[in-house]
Amino acid sequence: MADVLMVGGGLIGLASAWQTARAGLAVTVIDPDPGGGASRVAAGMLAPVTEVVYGEQDRVALNIAAARRWPAFAAELERATGIDVGYRPTGTLLVGFDQDDAAAVADLYAFQKELGLEVQRVTGVDARTQEPMLSPRVRIGLIAGEDHRVEPRAVLRALIRACTDAGVELDRSRVASIEHDDERVVGVRTEDGEVRRADRVVLTAGAWSGTIDGLPDDARPPVRPLKGQVLHLRDPGGRPVLHTTVRGLVRHRSIYLVPRDDGRLVVGASQEERGFDTTVTAGATRELLDDAAAIVPGIDELELTETIAGLRPTTPDNAPAIGWSRLPGLMIATGHHRNGVLLAPITADAVTALVNGKDPDPVIAVADPNRPALATRSDQRTVPSPGLDALISSNRNTGGPP
Ligand SMILES: Cc1cc2nc3c(=O)[nH]c(=O)nc-3n(C[C@H](O)[C@H](O)[C@H](O)COP(=O)(O)OP(=O)(O)OC[C@H]3O[C@@H](n4cnc5c(N)ncnc54)[C@H](O)[C@@H]3O)c2cc1C
Repeated sequence: MADVLMVGGGLIGLASAWQTARAGLAVTVIDPDPGGGASRVAAGMLAPVTEVVYGEQDRVALNIAAARRWPAFAAELERATGIDVGYRPTGTLLVGFDQDDAAAVADLYAFQKELGLEVQRVTGVDARTQEPMLSPRVRIGLIAGEDHRVEPRAVLRALIRACTDAGVELDRSRVASIEHDDERVVGVRTEDGEVRRADRVVLTAGAWSGTIDGLPDDARPPVRPLKGQVLHLRDPGGRPVLHTTVRGLVRHRSIYLVPRDDGRLVVGASQEERGFDTTVTAGATRELLDDAAAIVPGIDELELTETIAGLRPTTPDNAPAIGWSRLPGLMIATGHHRNGVLLAPITADAVTALVNGKDPDPVIAVADPNRPALATRSDQRTVPSPGLDALISSNRNTGGPP
């Protein structure tokens, strides 16, 4: 019998399983398709500074701590597996396209400075000196020296290997229900009817975490899926198009281009309230290409190698839910929204501390799964954290309120 069952093997479940197993516990991850959720779609930005949002200042400390945890986590994972997880501390450049975009970037700069974040203002010329492929139309820029990147698919590959080597059992089943008696959790039932017993169960099923049967109402995390579409572009000769992550505001919409070492660029992302729909649409693809080409015109020559959509697990207040639920023995670790890659190592540390009866890092307190904001049902608040779009009047959200 496992000491701990992780329900879901995305970045959050796998990172938590690896750390918990390394702390000496017997861990099973149950997932029909480990690494197949939002984590596979994510661009891999580790962006506590350029993701900062008005009204969500309370999680800046968590996001900064999460970013600072990454270098050691990446090094440990690479040492354990020999897999390069693509952690690249190259910073992020944020640019504005037209005059209104430049004004919004200037506002963001003032807000980031007010929060004490490390950010530097540069001219369009400076930005082009750093990234020569940028359009001459690009105006003001910001350099966020602490916003780095990683390759999420490489991290998933490494975590699956690290988990296996650390003795984690990977059970490719779907969990149908959480099993509990009058007092506490006793395990889970899989779709084939088998009961897997454990007195500690961690719910790490991403956007699906609220859909599993058997959860008492006061322990069900109010997460909903927030769809995001991304594109992969590639220079046919494998030459790098950009060196750093470039984010932009283009005619009131936000866009990012995240480079990979093999010459690919990941361009994203839409934010759509479409339930559990992962269709790739022509409209989102066209918008992403138009906006990306406005700041990096050379992308027109690149090969379009992949289009994909994923579902961000999103709570009513856009902050994650990490900690013991009201059902004894059931822990929640989900709701990571736009920052699940950034938050994976620090979440894994918190889960490991908690299952061992220890106190987690106090910065995790903002993610209390029993906070009042999560007492509402997941469908009662549908304003996704808009990231850079918060600065402007219209955005890429196609389904939610403004
Ligand atoms: C387009 C897009 C771009 C993004 N870019 C970034 C970024 O640049 N930086 C960043 O930090 N974050 C980013 N994110 C957010 C990030 O991807 C998520 O927050 C993170 O991947 C969530 O991880 P997870 O492990 O909780 O969920 P997931 O990766 O979705 O994994 C959940 C797992 O649970 C499994 N599962 C579901 N139901 C069951 C069940 N009943 N039984 C067993 N298993 C089950 C699924 O198969 C899946 O493997 C992005 C997301 C999207 C969609």
